[in-house]
Formats: sequence, structure tokens, C-alpha cells
Amino acid sequence: MNIVAQASRLVLDIIYPDNCCLCEQGDDILPCGGFVRGLRWCDSPHLCTNCFHGLSPIIISKTIAGIPMTGGMNSCANLVKMVSEMKYHGIRGLAWPLADLIVKAVEKSIQNYGEVDVLVPVPMHKSRRRERGFNQAELLAELVSLATGINVENQLVSRERATVQQAKIDIKLEDRRENISGCYKLLTQNYDSLRIGIIDDLITSGATTAELVNLLRESGLRVQWVAAAGIVKL
Ligand SMILES: [Zn+2]
Repeated sequence: MNIVAQASRLVLDIIYPDNCCLCEQGDDILPCGGFVRGLRWCDSPHLCTNCFHGLSPIIISKTIAGIPMTGGMNSCANLVKMVSEMKYHGIRGLAWPLADLIVKAVEKSIQNYGEVDVLVPVPMHKSRRRERGFNQAELLAELVSLATGINVENQLVSRERATVQQAKIDIKLEDRRENISGCYKLLTQNYDSLRIGIIDDLITSGATTAELVNLLRESGLRVQWVAAAGIVKL
């Protein structure tokens, strides 16, 4: 690490103390990710090894609207907190441990529902991307790609309509469906021979993801499965 990097690290440590985002202890934090695929040297996971090992993967698979969806574990308060710290507080380094869980879900999905040729992250509307600086599903898919060797395709589909964030809608499933209906657009028809795996962060109702998969399938694309870090067990 050069002197500028060291100085910046010091400043960052003061602004964002390197405490675990779950137990808030400062000891035994997982190391930074490194310079790879959108993650920088300063992207610490802010997660201690204890909490990391506490996220023991228990693969959960279920079918939502005819689509097999698999999570690395049952969604729990800690997992939701990690995802919101990454999305809303910009702690990109949390993508490392979350991608670890998705890799487990991908392995299980391949075993149960078949191989894929590309990974497609759930797209984000450009206004939200501008506000957040990155699409967490894309970042996670890139890391899953590193581990599995399956390429990421993020030019296949876009999100055309900014919707109210699902997490902020304290209403019924039907209203959530209404909120996301018709918000995706297929950008190319050139992938009709490819087998696709969708990568998401967390699956709660599965409504957003089902909307995306239905659009792709109706367009003749072969979506095999959806994999995420966590899925609500219910
Ligand atoms: Zn911890």
C-alpha cells in the first residue's frame, strides 16, 4: 500500500470505524477484498470472522410462480442488515461474504435445476443507480462469476421504471406486484439459445424477480433458476 493509500485508509478509518456491522466489535474484521470487479482496496466488509461464520449456509429452495428460487440461507435479521448496509450505506465490501452465500445457492441450483451459460443480475433503474453509485446485484454477480467461471450478462434487460422500493412498501403482496408490474424491458433478442441464471441479493416475496423471469421466458429465453444470498423460508 503506498503512502496516499495509507493516508486515505487512515481518514476512512476515522470516518467509518472498521467495526463489525453486525456485532459492532472492532476485533478480527475480515480483510478487504482487493482490486477486483468494482471492489477497491478500501472496501472492507466491516464484518468480523465470528459473525461471518455465524452465517452458516443452509440452502433453501422453493418454487415461486413456477420459478425455482434458491437462497444460500434462510433470510434472517443479520442477512437483511448486511444487505441494507451495502445498499443504503455504501459498504460494498459486504458483497464478499454475501457472494459466498450466493455461490452455495448457485451450486445447488445447477445440481437441481441445470447448468447455465450466463448469470444475469436483477437490473436497477438508472436513477437509483445514480443515487446509490452501484447495482448491488451486479456487484454480487461479478463475484459469483469469479468463483464459478460463469460469465455475467448485464446488457440483456433493463429496468425502465423507477418503482417505490419494495422494502419500503408496508402493504400486501398484491400491491407489491402492482408496484413492479411491467417495469423491465428486454434490450436484445440475441440470447435465445443461452441458459440463464438470475442473481439477486435477497428474495422476500419473490414478486420482483418473478416479474423479470416471466418477461424473459415470455420472450423465449431459457431462465433456469434464480439464486440469492437469502430467501424467506415461509
Ligand atoms: Zn461481528
